[in-house]
Amino acid sequence: MKKIKYQINELRKKISKYNYFYHTLDNPIVSDTEYDYLLNQLYNLESKYKEFITPDSPTQKIGANLLDRFKKVTHFFPMLSLENTFDLHGYLKFENRIKKFFITNAIIEFCCELKIDGIAVSLIYEEGILIRAATRGDGYFGENITSNVKTIKSIPTKLKGSNIPKRLEIRGEIFMLKSDFSNLNFQSFQGKKKYFSNPRNAAAGSLRQIDSKITAKRKLQFVCHGFHFFEKTKIFKTHYDVLIQCKNWGIPINAEISIFSNYSEILKFYKKFEKKRLLFDFDIDGIVIKVNSLYFQKKLGSNNKSPKWAIAFKYFTKEEITKLNDIKFEVGRTGIITPVAYFNPVYISGVMIKKASLYNKNEIDRLNLHFNDYITIQRSGDVIPKIINVINNKRLQNAKKIIFPVCCPICNSELLKNRKDKIIRCPSGLRCNAQKKKIFCHFFSKNALNATGLGPEIINELIQKKIVSNLVDFFYLTQDHFKNIENIREKKSIKIIKTIYESKKTTMHRFIYALGILSVGEVIAEKLSNYFNTVNNLINASTKELESIDGIGKVVANNIFTYFNILENRQLVEKLTQILNIKKYNQVSYYLNSISNKNVVITGIFQKYSRNQLKEVLIKLGARVSSKVSKKTELLIFGEKFGNKFFEANKLNIKMIDEKEFNFLINNIN
Ligand code: NAD
Repeated sequence: MKKIKYQINELRKKISKYNYFYHTLDNPIVSDTEYDYLLNQLYNLESKYKEFITPDSPTQKIGANLLDRFKKVTHFFPMLSLENTFDLHGYLKFENRIKKFFITNAIIEFCCELKIDGIAVSLIYEEGILIRAATRGDGYFGENITSNVKTIKSIPTKLKGSNIPKRLEIRGEIFMLKSDFSNLNFQSFQGKKKYFSNPRNAAAGSLRQIDSKITAKRKLQFVCHGFHFFEKTKIFKTHYDVLIQCKNWGIPINAEISIFSNYSEILKFYKKFEKKRLLFDFDIDGIVIKVNSLYFQKKLGSNNKSPKWAIAFKYFTKEEITKLNDIKFEVGRTGIITPVAYFNPVYISGVMIKKASLYNKNEIDRLNLHFNDYITIQRSGDVIPKIINVINNKRLQNAKKIIFPVCCPICNSELLKNRKDKIIRCPSGLRCNAQKKKIFCHFFSKNALNATGLGPEIINELIQKKIVSNLVDFFYLTQDHFKNIENIREKKSIKIIKTIYESKKTTMHRFIYALGILSVGEVIAEKLSNYFNTVNNLINASTKELESIDGIGKVVANNIFTYFNILENRQLVEKLTQILNIKKYNQVSYYLNSISNKNVVITGIFQKYSRNQLKEVLIKLGARVSSKVSKKTELLIFGEKFGNKFFEANKLNIKMIDEKEFNFLINNIN
């Protein structure tokens, strides 16, 4: 028992400390997931050993202590937190509890809203005039932030319209747009000032300023999600009705509010915004589901931490704090050195992540990274992991700063700096084994010579065993060469040789792309292939001629010229053109050209695809798909029951094709 008590006390100490940093100082030192995990541990222990529950336990309290710099105010009605769940099971438990309470199987309506990740505020209006604004604080006492709140443009200081109660409390969320947050952090970075780890902390920090002029500059936003009437009112029956009334009084509410009575609809709403939230210019960390009837809400009441009639159905976090273990300086195909951070694995949005690219030297400098630093990892756009900041107060005293190398970590050549592009490169090309492997892999990759079955591992083995030293060697491989390679039996070696043989038949633009010339991607390769009749003409082109091609600028022209000016490259390309069967005319590219890089709009219902599938296909083919027809639209694809977009496109003389024609294009591309 002593051990349990000790465990509980340790957890309480830790959680209270994290609460203080998060709620009082707006500067969290652990991730929300870590915090939630500890709090959950404490909940579990306390529910098993109820005798240890005390009123000051973080499981029984809201928020944290208040800052002395603000006057304290007493809330008229406690400002509670929300019960929360991360899965449907948790939500269903909540719903069943309510149904059980009312001993009913009757339909209960729920009002679903977005859970905006900001700071809760209480606004008191008397005769329609804003007279007091306060933070949530510990739920009973808040901080008086009236003068700061009055600087927020979307909060009306005077309500408009009719039926305004004598006294009214509005509850809502103050938050910062992601775009305003990036601008603020960029300015702070330039001015070498403290910067915030996310829009929520930036909003909290901006709101709790002594000088309201600073708050005014920070472009804070507000939405209302709650209210309290001081006098009995019979006009409003539901939570939704009051929100709409608030809107009519000039108080902003979120546009995405829906009423459902079925859990599957609620789940749909949750899932819809799980994806969509990435497109919003503000952070949401879940949805909030509330019993819609005000009468039912009153009957259900609250416990000391949250109302019993509402629950937050949260999304997994997009941010985690973890420990940096190492930085590896990786050498790319064109010699560019990219620092990659390796850290203790973290789980973000359902994916385990253990490394993140740092792009270039500037990023290391911006973060001022040291070994063993604690770092915040985010998945930008929910996909690419990124280090967003370092938790400075967790840095070890004698931590070693991370220094960018001066020599290539693979071949030891001195690195070259290009200050303009912030790029640091190893100039050794094929003489550097890291670049050699990547150049070979690229040459045979899907969009280049497309030798399926000749993957990076096999290529690496062939290089390591010195069986190939240049691209030409691949075309002279025999079964004998594979004899000493582990895991490659006779059958597989025949397959590899066959795939290399088949890759010889290619097109000019694929071949140019396969060479991997600096800044020559598929689009530029296509342009070069359209312009030059033969590879030989391309090899001998001057920078002037290259620059004359539409879409090829000075830098790209110079890169192409420099590549062919190196004797080894010229000889290699000449040999390859003798070995390969390169066709100039490429019908596929003709069809691809009518979609790739084009602004495309779709309208109507399609037989072969859902609209999302069609969008995906188009994006894969390089199209830019937009939802509206404009002068910039280059192609409209229409299905059955097409809408107004068809007529708009027709008016603007935009090229239009139907599903049949589109399928014809696709079949030719495939
Ligand atoms: P919460 O943020 O999970 O939910 C309650 C709040 O949601 C309300 O106060 C309200 O302001 C807000 N909200 C947003 N949209 C709403 C809507 N439509 N309807 C109703 N309310 C809405 O709970 P909390 O008590 O404010 O904070 C607890 C959470 O804060 C924890 O789960 C944790 O993730 C985080 N936290 C993190 C740390 C840390 O160190 N990282 C420390 C403390 C708390």
